[in-house]
Amino acid sequence: MISSATSSNIALPPTSEAQTQQTNEPALLHRSLLTQPHLVTHAQGSYLYLADGRKILDACGGAAVAILGHGNQDVIAATTAQMQQVSYVHTLSYTTTSAEELARSVLSRDKCPSYDHGLVRAYFVGSGSEANDAAMKVARQYWVELAGGERTSRKIYVSRRGGYHGNTIGAMSISGNVSRKKPYLDTVLPNVRLVSPAFAYRFQKSDDGETEDMYAARLVGELEAEFLRLGPDNVIMFSGETMVGATSGCVAAPKGYWKGVREVCDRYGVLLHLDEIMCGTGRTGTYFAFEREGVQPDIVTLGKGLGGGYVPIAAMLVSDKIINALRKGSSSFNHGHTYQAHPVACAAALAVQKVIKKDHLVERCAAQGARLERLLRKTFAGSRFVGDIRGAGLFWAMEFVEDISSRRPFDPRVGFGVAVQQTAFELGVAIYPGAGTADGERGDHILLAPPYNVTDEELEKIVGTLKSAYDLVEQKHMDMTIDSEL
Ligand SMILES: *Cc1c(COP(=O)(O)O)cnc(C)c1O
Repeated sequence: MISSATSSNIALPPTSEAQTQQTNEPALLHRSLLTQPHLVTHAQGSYLYLADGRKILDACGGAAVAILGHGNQDVIAATTAQMQQVSYVHTLSYTTTSAEELARSVLSRDKCPSYDHGLVRAYFVGSGSEANDAAMKVARQYWVELAGGERTSRKIYVSRRGGYHGNTIGAMSISGNVSRKKPYLDTVLPNVRLVSPAFAYRFQKSDDGETEDMYAARLVGELEAEFLRLGPDNVIMFSGETMVGATSGCVAAPKGYWKGVREVCDRYGVLLHLDEIMCGTGRTGTYFAFEREGVQPDIVTLGKGLGGGYVPIAAMLVSDKIINALRKGSSSFNHGHTYQAHPVACAAALAVQKVIKKDHLVERCAAQGARLERLLRKTFAGSRFVGDIRGAGLFWAMEFVEDISSRRPFDPRVGFGVAVQQTAFELGVAIYPGAGTADGERGDHILLAPPYNVTDEELEKIVGTLKSAYDLVEQKHMDMTIDSEL
């Protein structure tokens, strides 16, 4: 820019800094160039305080991240103590007590009290996407090790439409979230196949007499057929969210689905990866969401709730099957990051795990979740556009539809879910909106994921405000529909 300006002898354009000051444009690349996010000056407990003086009750913890709320003194103390002690080491040569202890903590038996989860090693990274990329890499390496370090035919990843696994090229490639992939469709990995989501509200053929069991069996059959079509010796791994989060809104698979998936994976040796970045670390009322399904995954990824938002951290957990294959082969995971197992991040996440344990927050999440469910079902019973209320623990979504009996979604131009979210925000409660719920393009939902220590009064305020917001948007939509019919 400077060279072209000087060579053509034109006056230099203002520097970007001057430009910023002149036009009030931010230097930060925000998600949108058109709108600016709200400036948060401080946060405490379940509340965010905005620069314009407003106080917002955060009913979604960002994206199901802030599981303890803000300002937890135990976490702050542990994090600053770690910074005093040792702020950074490179994992090629060093380790720290906080990283070792965090690994022990997330793998401990009491994280899955009803059976042995079979996970034996933890790998810590900075984000969920990185954790899923690590999962994709360790799974591929597993097959290379089994092939004696030689090349293997196993090169295809199978995952599901309507699922989300992250935004790096790897994690995005196995994601089925249509809108987030759009500009990159020609650059995603070609060796990925997507199968149907496990999403009863949308795809179970109840009208044709298909029961939950039959639906689960149909999906498992489809997965097996896909393995056979691809040639099972070509498949590395099957990935799915144990409970689907942002893309379709708190969707649990039909009963028996994950057990069936586990069997089919075992039949063909395919590894099973459960992405619990959103639904894990207690969110659904058990530490691992898979405990409710009774399966042992080969790989699990955790994220959002792991550090409770105090630090960026995520984890990949692997079973002894994978460790044994590595041990018999190269004895090392051929992967690494500068900030892997970062001591400060691990110390903060360890403190979060200790608070969860000390305050019995997983149990509390289950109990408060039952309360939230009752409130939602009672408050929204008979609401004209509420098609489905679903979830577990403190992880609940409402799907909005224009017609309840046919489950027809709104025209995306209506932006019904976003309107509910924005209206609730104006009324002082933050919730997480989602669009493309039904098929990637159409459909609206909102998601609730309050902190595990949310109080009864806060829950009542959340649901009450959500109802007020919904009523306003419903009324506005009906008025518009009547106007357009006149
Ligand atoms: C948020 C999320 C990710 C990606 O995590 P980032 O930290 O945003 O990279 C992956 N999988 C699921 C299920 C998620 O909800």
